[in-house]
Amino acid sequence: MHYATIKPYDIANGPGVRVSLFVSGCRHHCPDCFNAEAWDFDFGEPFTQETIEAILQHLKLPYIQGLTLLGGEPFEPENQPAVLDLVRQVREYCPDKTIWAFSGFTLEQLLSGQTGPVAITQALLSHLDVLVDGPFLSALKDLSLRFRGSSNQRIIDLPATLQTGNVVLWDETQ
Ligand code: SF4
Repeated sequence: MHYATIKPYDIANGPGVRVSLFVSGCRHHCPDCFNAEAWDFDFGEPFTQETIEAILQHLKLPYIQGLTLLGGEPFEPENQPAVLDLVRQVREYCPDKTIWAFSGFTLEQLLSGQTGPVAITQALLSHLDVLVDGPFLSALKDLSLRFRGSSNQRIIDLPATLQTGNVVLWDETQ
């Protein structure tokens, strides 16, 4: 996997001050994509264990609330193994931090196995606190929405959703 950038102090992509990782590679090609340069899977820098360790160092700062994964598409099949490696290490070394991910796939698409081996996808989802799902649709663009660009996208409480089998939305009053 390659990544475009790491933002060590991001306040736009989830609650609090967060570390954000923008991975490279995305086949959704949404019109008016905010980050079209990252559609290319080879854009940016190689993602290595040294990259993970740099992210962990940022995450350990006491005022950092968590990690956000976006792109690009973290759930492209080529990207999932490296993203899974990252979130496993975050859970081990920074267990008090939350993990959010943004995907142009819906949760239903992810769970159906359309995006690579479903065991890897399920393992990845099991480590996340929140998934913001679905493509950005310019016809449904709404600047008043928190943490998402269009009204089709959902902010999903993943632990509650996976436990109950029904989509539970994140409590936006948090
Ligand atoms: S899923 Fe995100 S990165 Fe991919 S094309 Fe759509 S807006 Fe751009």
